[in-house]
Parts: sequence; structure tokens; C-alpha cells
Amino acid sequence: NMSGRKFCVGGNWKMNGDQKSIAEICKVLSDAQLDPNTDVVIGCPAIYLMFARNLLPCSIGVAGQNAYKVAKGAFTGEISPAMLKDVGADWVILGHSERRAIFKESDELIAEKAEHALAEGLKVIACIGETLEEREAGKTNEVVARQMCAYAKKIRDWTNVVVAYEPVWAIGTGKTATPDQAQEVHAFLRQWLTENISKEVSNSLRIQYGGSVTAANAKELAKKPDIDGFLVGGASLKPEFVDIVNARK
Ligand code: PGA
Repeated sequence: NMSGRKFCVGGNWKMNGDQKSIAEICKVLSDAQLDPNTDVVIGCPAIYLMFARNLLPCSIGVAGQNAYKVAKGAFTGEISPAMLKDVGADWVILGHSERRAIFKESDELIAEKAEHALAEGLKVIACIGETLEEREAGKTNEVVARQMCAYAKKIRDWTNVVVAYEPVWAIGTGKTATPDQAQEVHAFLRQWLTENISKEVSNSLRIQYGGSVTAANAKELAKKPDIDGFLVGGASLKPEFVDIVNARK
């Protein structure tokens, strides 16, 4: 790949796992030969973050799956970026479609969370993606542009941001976007970045694809010029995650 962008693969464990299964997958990842030219980050349930951090090699980053937009205070049930950092996380996943759909997080709230997380020194995986209804209505570009606009209102420095393009219809459904379908949106996003942010950010910002990525389809997706990695749900809980990390190897 000629882009110069370092491949970056995230695992998103969502609300899965217990101490036993997390210890097992951490052992698999510790023993594996992971491509040193790929950034690897594991999105772990907050309550197991410290546990996973202690079991994983330091070459693997650890991410929270959500964080609130302020450092501390009377926000029962919430977790701050400062707390994530305090237990060894260096990343946070924000704006996942499950946060948007189930927990009714708005574009604006997600962007405020991203702004605060970056200010606190976390790296951010900023998720976007259209629903099936939006795709079928021909609104994919419009939707991802709206989501990117919201982020762009709050993010000044994109150095510590990775965008994850995850079509909602592909998440957890086994219906992966074809490499051409994914590339088409990634190329649109690249163009959007050129026109709305800068040529530099467009060239350097990594854009992951997410949605039913498996060891079987990762290699073909990874060949596309604007796909710089993956955000992986279901398959990140299994040993095949190693092969997804190594898709470019
Ligand atoms: P999936 O989830 O790989 O299970 O489709 C992807 C995600 O939600 O990030």
C-alpha cells in the first residue's frame, strides 16, 4: 500500500466477555505474531480495562468504548476520559452506531465527547455510518458527510483521530460491504476531507472499515487504497482476530 498511512485494526468487544474469556483472548493476542506495521487497539468493557491492560503486551493499545464529555462530577453511571487514561487506556471509541441508535447519542454530543477526549490526551476512534434505510434512499454520502461535519465543528487537530466507517446494515449481520462498496465511501470521505478540512488531513487521516469483518474477507478489503484498517466486533473475540490484524502482512 502506497498511502503512507499505518494500518490500524481495532477490536470492539462491546458488552461481551468475563474475566475467564478475556484472559483467554489476551493470551492468544500475547502469543501471536502481530504485524509490527499495524497499530492494534482493543475496545474493552470499562470494568475490565485494567484487567485487560495488565494481560496485554504494551504494543497493543486499549480503548474505552464510550466516555463522557467532562472530566468529573455528578454524572451517575458515566466514565470520563481522565478515568480511562488513569487505568491505562490510551484510546476511546466514540459514536458507535449502537451508542447512536440504542442510547440516542446525537452527532453533537458525540463530537463534544471527541473534543474533550482529545483534549485529555486520548486517541479517538470516531465512528460514522449509514443505516440500510439511508443507503437504500441514496443518502449514504449525505449521512456520513453530516456526521463528519459534526466532528469537524469540534476537532481542530486530527492527528490523534481515526475514523471508522461502519455501515449499520453490515454490523453484526454477516453482510459485509464489498471491497468496492467500502472503497467508494472511503474515497468519498477522502474527498470530503480535502474539501472541508485540508489536503494534509485527507492524506494522513486513517479510515477504518467496520461491519462483519472476518479473517475470510479482511485481505480483499485491505487491498483497497483508502481502507486503512478495520474496526472488528464479533471476530475480535476470537483467535481469527490475529489474521485480521495481519491482513496486510
Ligand atoms: P461486527 O461489529 O464486526 O460484529 O459486525 C463491528 C462493530 O460494531 O464495530
